[in-house]
Amino acid sequence: MLEISLLKILKETFGYTSFRFEQQKIIHSLIEGKDSLAIMPTGGGKSLCYQIPALYLDGVALVISPLISLMQDQVMNLKETGVEAVFLNSSLSYEATRKAKEKILKGKVKLVYVSPEGILSPHLSDFFDQVKISLIAIDEAHCVSQWGHEFRKDYTRLGELKNRFPGVATIALTATADAKTRDDISNQLMLNAPNIFVSSFDRPNIKYMIHDRTDEMKQLNDFIKTYHANDTGIVYCLSRDKVERVAQSLKKLGYPAVPYHAGLSKELRTKNQELFNQEERIIVVATIAFGMGIDRPDVRFVAHLDLPKSIESYYQETGRAGRDGKPSTAWMIYGLQDVVKLSQMIETTDADENYKKVARHKLDSMLGLCEAAACRRNYLLQYFGERGEEFCSYCDSCLEPPILWDATTDAQKIMSTIYRTQQVYGAGHIIDVIRGTRNAKMTERKHDELSVFGIGKDHPKEHWNIILRQLLNLNYIAIKSWEYRSLGLTSKALEILTGGKKLQLRKQEIAFTKKTKKETLKTKESQHDRQDLFGALKSLRNSLAKDKGLPSYIVFNDKSLHDMCQLMPRSESEFLLVHGVGQNKLENYGSAFLKVIQDFQH
Ligand code: ADP
Ligand code: ZN
Repeated sequence: MLEISLLKILKETFGYTSFRFEQQKIIHSLIEGKDSLAIMPTGGGKSLCYQIPALYLDGVALVISPLISLMQDQVMNLKETGVEAVFLNSSLSYEATRKAKEKILKGKVKLVYVSPEGILSPHLSDFFDQVKISLIAIDEAHCVSQWGHEFRKDYTRLGELKNRFPGVATIALTATADAKTRDDISNQLMLNAPNIFVSSFDRPNIKYMIHDRTDEMKQLNDFIKTYHANDTGIVYCLSRDKVERVAQSLKKLGYPAVPYHAGLSKELRTKNQELFNQEERIIVVATIAFGMGIDRPDVRFVAHLDLPKSIESYYQETGRAGRDGKPSTAWMIYGLQDVVKLSQMIETTDADENYKKVARHKLDSMLGLCEAAACRRNYLLQYFGERGEEFCSYCDSCLEPPILWDATTDAQKIMSTIYRTQQVYGAGHIIDVIRGTRNAKMTERKHDELSVFGIGKDHPKEHWNIILRQLLNLNYIAIKSWEYRSLGLTSKALEILTGGKKLQLRKQEIAFTKKTKKETLKTKESQHDRQDLFGALKSLRNSLAKDKGLPSYIVFNDKSLHDMCQLMPRSESEFLLVHGVGQNKLENYGSAFLKVIQDFQH
């Protein structure tokens, strides 16, 4: 009857009717006292995997979490659902810490959130000697692995927990699927023959779109205006400077945009993070420093203005869109410069050759996604070891199949130019030669006397840039010197130059077409008739949240509100059927929301 008890907790406390992915199996594994490793995409519902066993088992669950903001959010969320949870970290005053500990000793608390360095500090470690520990959950467990993409030194000591709390079942949770990282997590944390659970990486509500970068701000503005004019989103950029620049430009265009990067003062970062949590509609322009603390479910788009360095990073960042399951977009533009810059970053680090090899491989896979003529989703799923449908019909490749064109002659022109100029120049000069641009460098090097000078003046710079990038990505040409970013031919180049091989490339189109716009609108849920009620519920939610000083989605997320519009509950028992309504939320908010629904019906 374990099954029934677990479903009861799921419904009465969290307000959900069924488990997702492998949640149920993971929960069983923990209750049976087994070590477990759970890999689930962002937004998949990792937290419930240990929160439900924590409620079911005797004692206190220890949750190791890397960020203070993340702990606060989780604890706030749990309290709203009526679960007693506390966090112990450096942000708490002496008095607050004392109170929290007292509560734990009195057996009133089911979950304690602690930082990795906190749990191993002598005073907390001693304190927990007096407490029965039900289980240990290590969130964002990929931070323990050098193979992962967010390695944190303070995670490496967590292996000691196994000695410190012998016999306590441990669960490691992450969204990173890569097999190497997985093994490493298990070894580093000294998990004991863990049960491993991998859930699907498919995010069917996210539409993937990848374009060439031509006019960055115009493209971004067009994208937001066309698809997400009134939505909340995140715009990722590689550098702090660019974050500032883009945030400014968006503001000028009338968007509610704020910057976020590690160079801002701590106060400003906290403030902007809070704005992101609380505002109805906001756009955060950020470096990847903005990430781990984000729980907001209704992020409608994630835009990348620069290429991420791996598919893991791309997937994690884009995964912050649409956690509520509603249609959302992952949009990216990239260009030749990104490829050069990222490659250069890899080659010029002090890291050992092995690391560089992994990094190169990851970047290559990322580029493969960009150049792919086939379904983007399928490519992503295959990368994570899953088999997807051949066409998802919800990515740019599927919605508007790319046109392939025969680029053999143009590729030959580029390669010949690289060859004739001795393979020592960067992309800029090569293109100048092809297009017959006269400048001082040209005359000085006598490149205007070469037979290749001006052989491609019939096409704009952009055209050559795109082919060059594709040739680089497909390994026909390579960067020879990092200092000068000079390009050279690879042995593969001969296949095209002299071997008679044809080269088919993806035709890159730049502007949006009306067709995709219409299609996107079609897939957006049509809630027009209930719009008024939705609006009324939303403002009730927002004012309740404001009174309590909570982010609005902690009171109810949009999915719950939509559910109310659909179900139109008339009684408390009907209200309990709404997504995300458990006993506690019913008591706190039921009558207020029921009243609005009733008024609407009259
Ligand atoms: P993550 O895997 O990224 O840590 P969370 O644990 O924050 O994801 O869960 C994401 C969202 O999904 C939360 O709003 C959570 O309450 C919701 N959720 C989790 N499990 C279920 C479920 N079985 N049914 C419905 N919603 C769920
Ligand atoms: Zn597709």
